[in-house]
Amino acid sequence: MELYTLDISELRRLLDRREVSVGEVVDSVYKRIDAVEGRVKAFVTLTKEEALKMAGPAQKKIDNKEPGTLLGIPIAIKDNMCAKGIRTTCSSRILEKFVPPYESTVTSRLKEHGYILVGKTNLDEFAMGSSTENSGFHTTRNPWDTARIPGGSSGGSTAAVAADECMAALGSDTGGSIRQPASLCGVVGLKPTYGRVSRYGLVAFASSLDQIGPITKNVSDAALIMNVISGRDLLDSTSAPVDVPDFTRILGQDVRGLKIGVPKEYFIEGMEEDVVNSVKAAVRQIESLGAVPVEISLPHTDYAIATYYLLATSEASSNLARYDGVKYGFRENGKDLLEMYMNTRAAGFGAEVKRRIMLGTYALSSGYYDAYYKKAQQARTLIKKDFEQALKTVDIIVTPTSPTAAFKIGEKADDPLQMYLSDIFTISVNLAGVPAISIPCGFTRDDLPVGLQLIGRHFDEETILKVAYAYEQSTEWHKRKPKL
Ligand code: GLN
Repeated sequence: MELYTLDISELRRLLDRREVSVGEVVDSVYKRIDAVEGRVKAFVTLTKEEALKMAGPAQKKIDNKEPGTLLGIPIAIKDNMCAKGIRTTCSSRILEKFVPPYESTVTSRLKEHGYILVGKTNLDEFAMGSSTENSGFHTTRNPWDTARIPGGSSGGSTAAVAADECMAALGSDTGGSIRQPASLCGVVGLKPTYGRVSRYGLVAFASSLDQIGPITKNVSDAALIMNVISGRDLLDSTSAPVDVPDFTRILGQDVRGLKIGVPKEYFIEGMEEDVVNSVKAAVRQIESLGAVPVEISLPHTDYAIATYYLLATSEASSNLARYDGVKYGFRENGKDLLEMYMNTRAAGFGAEVKRRIMLGTYALSSGYYDAYYKKAQQARTLIKKDFEQALKTVDIIVTPTSPTAAFKIGEKADDPLQMYLSDIFTISVNLAGVPAISIPCGFTRDDLPVGLQLIGRHFDEETILKVAYAYEQSTEWHKRKPKL
C-alpha cells in the first residue's frame, strides 16, 4: 500500500498509532508528485521546503498526543488563497511575483490543526472559467484522461486530489468552481453556505458569491475539513455568527423519510446521455435507502446564467480595479501614470479577465445600470426565492453537477458561451447562497467520472453531508482511481 493513496481518516489512524511518520507521508506524496505531475500539471507552486519545515512540529505534536485533526496531513491550496510568505498568483501574470505578507484565515486554521502545505494549485485566472484553460501559466489535465480538462476554476485542486498528489485540497466557488471540477475529476467538492467560511485572504472575484470549501477523496474527509475552516471570523464581516456543528457527527445517520427534490428544469437538452442516466440511477439508489424523491420546480432557472454573468462581472470589474501596477506585483511602465496603468493591465490580464472587466464595467455604467445590474439583482431575488420555496417542501435538492463529463482540451476554449453553460446547474446555488456538494455517482462509457449535486438549506450542510455519505457508502464510485 502506498501512503499517498490514503484518505485523511486512514492516515490519521496510522499516524496516531505511529505506524508511519509524518516524514514518510510527506515523502510518499512528493514521490507521487514527481511521478505524475509532469502529466497532470495541477500545481503552480510546489512547497516541498515548507512542507518539510511543517512536518517536524506536526510529528512532535503527534508524539506528545496533542490534538490536531490534520496533524501531518498533506493538503494543497488553490492559488487564490494567501499563505504567508508563499507566492500567490491567482494564475495571473499580474500577480506572478506576489508574495503575501499575511496568512488567510482558512490556511491559518488548517495550520492550527497541523496540516502540511503541499503546494498552491492552478486555476483559471482569478477563478474565471470552467476548465483551467484560462490560467496565465498552463492548463491542468484531467487525471482520468490527460487529453481532457479537469474542469475549473479549481481544476488544479481537484486534479491534485484525484491524482493522489495530496490527501485533500481547498477550492473556491463563485458559480461552481469547486463542484464542477470535483464532478469532472471524480472527487468530492463542497461549497458551504455563503458566510459559513471566512474569506479573509481569498483574492476576491465576486464578493457576493465567493465561498471557500473542501475538495476531498470522500464525504467524511469533507466533513472533517469543514470542522476546521468554518465559523465566524472578525477579519471577514460577511462571515456569519452562526454556530458550527461537528459535521462528522451526522455521518451514518438514517436518511429514511427525507424528502429529496428533483427539479424538472435540471434535465435539459444537450446533456450527455450517460450523465442523465447516472444521475437518475443515483436518485433511485437514494430512494432505495429510504428517502423519498419528489419532483419540484425552480421556475427561474432559465435566468441564472445571464443573471450571474451580469453580477459576477460587475463585482469583478470593481474588485480587479486594484491591480494597477502601483502596489501589486507586475508593472509595465509608460510615459505617464495613465499609460502605466494601461500597459500594466493590458499585459498583466488574460483575455477572459479582460472580457469580464469590460462586461462588468458596461453593466455598471450610468444609463445601463438599471437595465442590467439592477435587473440582475431583481432576477437574483427570484432565483433565491425559488430555492427557499422548494426547500420548504423538501429537505434537499438533487441534480446533476455538470451537464457533461470532462471535455477535450481546446474544445470550448474559443466559445465563451459554451464554456459558461458548463455551470448551468451550479450557478443558481451561489446566487441563492445555499450550500451544495458534488459527489461521484458513475462513469460515462469513456470512463469519465460523473457527479451528483446535493443542495441544502442555508447553514444546513449537515443534511447534504448525511445523504451524500449514505449514498457514498452504498456505492463504490469513490473508490475508483484513475490509471495515470
Ligand atoms: N465557471 C464560472 C465562471 O467562470 C464559475 C467560476 C467560479 O466559481 N469561480 O465564472
